[in-house]
Amino acid sequence: MEIVDAIPLDLSLSAVQAKLKSTDSKSVGELLDQALSLAEARAVFAPAYIEKKDDDQVVIDGRCFKSRVLRKNLGDVGRVFPAVVTIGGRLEEAAHRSADLLTQYYLDQIGNLILAEARSELIRRLCRQFALDKLSWMSPGSLEDWPIEAQRPLFDLLGEAPAAIGVQLTESLLMLPAKSVSGIFFPSASTFFSCRLCPRERCEGRKARYDEAVAREYGVLK
Ligand code: SF4
Repeated sequence: MEIVDAIPLDLSLSAVQAKLKSTDSKSVGELLDQALSLAEARAVFAPAYIEKKDDDQVVIDGRCFKSRVLRKNLGDVGRVFPAVVTIGGRLEEAAHRSADLLTQYYLDQIGNLILAEARSELIRRLCRQFALDKLSWMSPGSLEDWPIEAQRPLFDLLGEAPAAIGVQLTESLLMLPAKSVSGIFFPSASTFFSCRLCPRERCEGRKARYDEAVAREYGVLK
C-alpha cells in the first residue's frame, strides 16, 4: 500500500479558460490560484494480482469483480493497481461558501480539472515506478456493465488506506470528499475510455466518442 502526498499539479490557465469558455484571463487566473491553493491532491494505490479470470468476471487478491469490460481489458494482464485519488474538501467548501453562482460553477469545474490532473500525475508516477508504457483505468459505476457496487470490493482491496488520505465510502457507495475518484488502473497498449462504450448524450465529462462497433466488441451492445 502506498500513499502519495502532495501530488504536483500542472494546470495551465489556457486549459482552464478553454474548459470554462472564458476569455477573462484575470478573473479565471485568480480563481485558478485560489483553487490550487485549496486543493490537497493525494492518492493511495496498491499493486494487486489477478488470481482468476472467467468470461465476465475477474478475481483480484481474493475480491471478485463482475464486468465483461474489465475482464476484456485485463486480457493477459497479471497485475493491476486499485487506487483512490482525491483533492480533499477545502475547494468544494469554498465554492459552497461563495454567494456568486458563476464563481461556484467555475470553482467546481476547476476542481474537476485539478482532480483529472492529479489522476494523470498518478498514472505517470505508476508508469515510472513500475516501468510501464501505458496505463488505463476503469471506475466503478462508469458503465452499466460495472456498477457502483464494485466500490465495496475495490475499497476492501485498499483497506484503511483511503481513510488515511481523508476519503470515506458512504452507505450509498459515494465517496467523500466528492472530488475523489476510485478505480482499477491497468497496463494497456492504448488508452481505454469507458466513454466509447457509453451512449449517454450531453455528458460534460465525455472524453471520447461513443462507438457502437467497440460497444459490440466488448459485449455491452447486442
Ligand atoms: S460519457 Fe460521461 S457518463 Fe459516459 S462514461 Fe464518459 S464521462 Fe462517464
